[in-house]
Amino acid sequence: MCVFCSIVKGDIPSYKIYEDENFLAFLDISNDVEGHTLVIPKQHFIDLDECPDDYYIKLMLLVKKISKHFLNLGYSGINIVSNCKKDAGQEIEHFHVHIFPRKKADGAKLVMHEAIVKSDLNEISKKLRMS
Ligand code: AMP
Repeated sequence: MCVFCSIVKGDIPSYKIYEDENFLAFLDISNDVEGHTLVIPKQHFIDLDECPDDYYIKLMLLVKKISKHFLNLGYSGINIVSNCKKDAGQEIEHFHVHIFPRKKADGAKLVMHEAIVKSDLNEISKKLRMS
């Protein structure tokens, strides 16, 4: 069974930050950035691509609510990340959003490696444009 479904079921312990009928937020086990939190729908959707709009909207509103809570607690910045599919670094195939509460000079760095091949911005904008 999926690790996050096991957490939802209570078969794997987690450090819960928030829970309601449809969503759960808990600390990431990596213990890298202080307060690194994962927000998930309790229902199993593999990724952003599979998550229905209504769940997605509610989950993102919850991400905002939790982020504001962290700011109110005194963190001075927030990074929000969601990896969608293996090629983007998704390891757990249960849709989730990472929240990284940040502090001044906390030493944490979200690294986006520079592409090996530089793209032609004109070409790429034509390719990506939503008509
Ligand atoms: P991603 O690479 O976006 O799929 O992120 C998956 C995240 O899940 C990683 O940051 C892991 O540290 C985290 N993770 C894996 N297993 C657990 C667990 N049992 N409890 C909390 N976080 C976990």
